Amino acid sequence: MWQAEVRVDLDAIRENVSRLRSGTTAELMAVVKGDGYGHGMLPAARAALDAGADWLGVCTLDEALTLRRAGITAPVLAWLLAPGLPLHEGVGAGVDLAAASLAQLDEMIEASRRAERPARLHLKIDTGLSRGGATVADWPALLDAAAKAQADGLVEVVGVWSHFVYADMPGHPTTDRQLAVFHEGLAMVEQAGLRPRWRHLANSAATLTRPDTHFDLVRPGLAIYGLSPVAGETYGLRPAMTARARVMLTKRVPAGTGVSYGHTYTTESDANLAVVPLGYADGVPRHASNSGPVQLGGVRRTISGRVCMDQFVLDCGDDPVADGDVATLFGSGADGEPTADDWAEAVGTINYEIVTRFGSTRVPRVYD
Ligand code: PLP
Repeated sequence: MWQAEVRVDLDAIRENVSRLRSGTTAELMAVVKGDGYGHGMLPAARAALDAGADWLGVCTLDEALTLRRAGITAPVLAWLLAPGLPLHEGVGAGVDLAAASLAQLDEMIEASRRAERPARLHLKIDTGLSRGGATVADWPALLDAAAKAQADGLVEVVGVWSHFVYADMPGHPTTDRQLAVFHEGLAMVEQAGLRPRWRHLANSAATLTRPDTHFDLVRPGLAIYGLSPVAGETYGLRPAMTARARVMLTKRVPAGTGVSYGHTYTTESDANLAVVPLGYADGVPRHASNSGPVQLGGVRRTISGRVCMDQFVLDCGDDPVADGDVATLFGSGADGEPTADDWAEAVGTINYEIVTRFGSTRVPRVYD
């Protein structure tokens, strides 16, 4: 008997990947960082590869090496690399690395020497996000140094890439500006004598809405898990994660009963309370106090009072509720249950954060 669980429908991931893959002529990199957005990095990666993903994308070297240790041989790109990491292990394991500065390039040249094989690099240009990536001003120097290292047989520049600011707002003018900067950056790549095989820019939103940004490879993350990056659109995607728990205790209380820490909720009339064993240690945001939607007994309810570390309470009024009944926090919505989008709206965050935090806790993940 289970108490609480996060169910992950791997068929949904396969279906989403296959839909995205068939919507483009580019290759597809399934982004599985952040423990597969909470869905489990390895199961998500395997499901995505089964369904036609060509690449896997992760942030850290550790994530990339975990994929390799699990026997996954597909191309992997790792793009968040602080100084001083054992990059030679990544190079030795055939992990592609993202470089955005001369200092990073130097580390990758050193890693290539140690691994006794050239690192495969994806040079990143900052087209406007002001996060990872070399600025347009620094781009020529990075290209020259990379071209020289490649001519010396030390590295292989296989990719050039960037990342969008506003792709989740279709029609936002910044996307066009970034695309123009990317094209300029690509022209400079050619002038430097580099011919990278993969040019890539599109996250989920751009994969779904901007085919002109697909180039040779698209990098969807959120959409492979069935969630939409664009408010109010589903694009026919199927959410893969369901979070639920069994009611552990029910009780009848009189009107005027204060509920949970601080008594921020008081029953208006005599009520059946249901105690649900999930809290912020399990991924339920504390901001869901008095706002998080939960389906119980076929009815959508709202969390009553504060979310605690391990539990919260639902006021079910006069509805019959019993110990062991299943409370669904979110799922695909197919049975009327709330979705990760409903949760995001209720607590003032994005669907990315909801699934990522629910998947990375003590709650067992179960795969369908
Ligand atoms: N590419 C990069 C560099 C990212 O950091 C991410 C995620 O944040 C993605 C692609 C995937 O983005 P999304 O989940 O919006 O598809």
